[in-house]
Amino acid sequence: MHDNTYLPDHFLRHIAAIMPAHLSMDEFVASCRRPLRRSIRVNTLKISVAAFVARMQPLGWQLDPVPWCDTGFWLSREDESVPLGNTAEHLSGLFYIQEASSMLPVTALFACEQTRRDGMLLDAAAAPGSKTTQIAALMDNQGMLVANEYSSSRLKVLSANLQRCGVTNVGMTHFDAKVFGQWLPETFDAILLDAPCSGEGTVRKDEDALRNWSIESIDEIAAVQQGLLESAFHALKPGGVLVYSTCTLSLQENQAVCQSLQDKFGDAFSFDSLADLFPAAEKACTPEGYLHVWPQIFDSEGFFVARLRKNHSVPNTMFKPGKLGKFPFLPLPAKESEPMLREIEAAFGVVPQGNLFGRSEEIWLFPQLFEQVQGKLRFDRIGLKLAETFKKGYRLTHEWALAYGDGASKGFVELDIADAREFMMGRDVWPEQEAAGTGEVIVRYQGHTLGMGKWVGSRVKNALPRELVRDNNLFV
Ligand code: SAM
Repeated sequence: MHDNTYLPDHFLRHIAAIMPAHLSMDEFVASCRRPLRRSIRVNTLKISVAAFVARMQPLGWQLDPVPWCDTGFWLSREDESVPLGNTAEHLSGLFYIQEASSMLPVTALFACEQTRRDGMLLDAAAAPGSKTTQIAALMDNQGMLVANEYSSSRLKVLSANLQRCGVTNVGMTHFDAKVFGQWLPETFDAILLDAPCSGEGTVRKDEDALRNWSIESIDEIAAVQQGLLESAFHALKPGGVLVYSTCTLSLQENQAVCQSLQDKFGDAFSFDSLADLFPAAEKACTPEGYLHVWPQIFDSEGFFVARLRKNHSVPNTMFKPGKLGKFPFLPLPAKESEPMLREIEAAFGVVPQGNLFGRSEEIWLFPQLFEQVQGKLRFDRIGLKLAETFKKGYRLTHEWALAYGDGASKGFVELDIADAREFMMGRDVWPEQEAAGTGEVIVRYQGHTLGMGKWVGSRVKNALPRELVRDNNLFV
């Protein structure tokens, strides 16, 4: 029980006025004070759900399925001495720690045929990336996903999470998401706007979430949300699907934002009912068909999800192409890319997918659909850095290893637990195996990649990026 959870009276009065008649305020307050159940999502870019469950159950992990996400589980562990984020499975990207209700928006986005895994998608407010990685997994790294984030520090966390999870189809941008309607009208097949909000649904994990709560700040943020939703709507192709979500409860930031779009664009779009999204979804369904998840309904955080489909184009007075700097990349000529891809295949038995581009000493793999947005948007990072070149060759990157290393049929070394821990602490290792190899090597633990190394005699020289080195309490 979180007795210190700050629930100010004026907030509770505000909530009591909008709480649906069939729900109780006492239960609302009790659930706000109850600690949140831990939940995770299996990253199917790296491991199947069945293989993950088979791997973790013997370690004393109890995994209870989240009914609205077939890769999501509530988790309890017999041994909690190692933080979840320091487990080998987390470090190699096999799962993402994500609150169960936060899995809903992406489930809603993909529960319709318009959202194709090989399409052009936008995640307009993406950091730290729980939903971006969920979308990328459902796209199976195909097509292209533009993941935008306004805050620079959060952009770095997003990038680290994408790399850890082996995501290769994302282009990261760093703008106020209001630009998408102006710069890229009718471009995206599907859009997620998981909007910045007042976070009323998050008190179970942050007891101070409501410290600065006021009606004025809600009205202020609702105005921002309306602007972001309108812009996202312009960026959506006719026939496309858009999910608007928040982790807050007030009508101003949820139903009223949806209504403001309806008032502006009338029959140019329609909201879908989400009552059948999963068994029991109707318990959270509003008369309009939105999901308004009060924390006591599914014993989760509070959440709001609305899905709309665009019926036809609307006049866009916003349109104005963005200013772009010089694009620093050039497609890698076939005479350079082909031998390189052949070499990688010969050494590791995997072929990197995507289009190869180069800039100064770097070679990148861009997502399949990148050319659709090339020249229209400035990116912070596109796809995956494959290699760094130097005079006599190139060095494959850590992020390449995390994306492709699990699929390698050769050129890897499997460490035991003691060596795996040493490796994650940034140290070189001397793996016990019959013959040492030569050159670059993918370093794995229990079949999943930790990073890259290089054989020097019988030693594997550690090539883990310094910022990923951990110093204690690693996996047991
Ligand atoms: N979708 C994320 C996830 O699942 O991990 C959570 C997103 S959080 C609810 C909202 C994000 O929007 C924050 O990271 C915030 O920094 C960002 N943000 C705030 N204002 C923005 C704006 N005008 N345009 C784009 N992003 C914005």
